[in-house]
Amino acid sequence: MEKRLKEGLEELAENPVQWGCQLAPFTSFGIGGPADALVQVESGEELNNLLNFFVDNSLAWQFIGRGSNLLVSDSGFSGVVLLFGKALSQIEILSDAKSVDIRVRVGAGCSLARLLNWCTDNSYSGLEFAVGIPGSLGGAVVMNGGAWGGEIADIIDSISVLSYHSGAEHLERSELDFRYRVWGNQGTGEKKRIVLSADICLKPGKKEDIQRECREYLAQRKVKQPKGTRNAGSFFKNPEGDSAGRLIEASGLKGKSCGGAMVSPVHANFLVNTGEATAKDVYKLMDIVIRQVKKDSGVHLFPEVHFL
Ligand SMILES: Cc1cc2nc3c(=O)[nH]c(=O)nc-3n(C[C@H](O)[C@H](O)[C@H](O)COP(=O)(O)OP(=O)(O)OC[C@H]3O[C@@H](n4cnc5c(N)ncnc54)[C@H](O)[C@@H]3O)c2cc1C
Repeated sequence: MEKRLKEGLEELAENPVQWGCQLAPFTSFGIGGPADALVQVESGEELNNLLNFFVDNSLAWQFIGRGSNLLVSDSGFSGVVLLFGKALSQIEILSDAKSVDIRVRVGAGCSLARLLNWCTDNSYSGLEFAVGIPGSLGGAVVMNGGAWGGEIADIIDSISVLSYHSGAEHLERSELDFRYRVWGNQGTGEKKRIVLSADICLKPGKKEDIQRECREYLAQRKVKQPKGTRNAGSFFKNPEGDSAGRLIEASGLKGKSCGGAMVSPVHANFLVNTGEATAKDVYKLMDIVIRQVKKDSGVHLFPEVHFL
């Protein structure tokens, strides 16, 4: 990056810019090369200034949450990677009428785990389905993350977003096109919306009930999902009326490996990093799985994981 741009970025960023920052530690896969720069953003205003700077200077940028649904290439990212710091991870009660919905504003950088702990401590029910999902609230909005028949769209009231094209916007639930593991109107390029916060609706509950439900879900995850290897959760989206894991298993691919990447012997829809996997290993394995499943069952699998 040119010296002029480096100086401009350092001037705009509240936190120290991390130059040549390895991205692998920022992902659950533990895979990926360096970004030219990484900036931990602390406010909407800072983000707005940065987006303007990137567009004005034709600088590539990408946003990441907690990297739990992300495969970063071995060559890393030629541009600036943004993520949210503590100031954009706050939890604030908007209304707590006890008998009706409790509305809570949550910074997009807040982890689902922290939010769920907070809900449990306050006996607020509604987020139990998300126990064990290792992402941020912002990532869960973009992915419409879900499990056990629940999804983030069920509890969203509205969201605050920012984009270069439209600036700050507050979008009501009715304006949000949530589908299976996708928020359809996030936009791309200069219109790409970054989620700053979400207002969610919870119900008054009993702490013991919330804890019991979470324990039950976690126990099922423990049995069904691989342990001790790094991964990004379900790698492929489930095709309508079927499960990607069932199709991959039916193709005899459990345990199939490419370099350090392997189709988990525990759950076939988990591609895991057994230790030293490269992104190239995972792409190759993904390709083998897609081809074999297409050949055996005629179904084309699409990745749920995002690529950087
Ligand atoms: C062990 C394991 C289990 C999992 N189980 C589940 C599960 O049961 N259900 C499920 O749905 N998922 C599951 N996942 C996948 C993942 O945790 C979710 O998709 C999660 O919502 C991703 O959030 P993140 O913050 O990690 O997003 P990232 O992986 O960092 O990013 C994903 C995408 O969202 C974008 N993004 C992130 N934050 C923002 C933001 N604030 N504004 C705009 N764009 C943003 C990124 O640019 C990227 O395109 C699992 C993953 C693992 C490793």
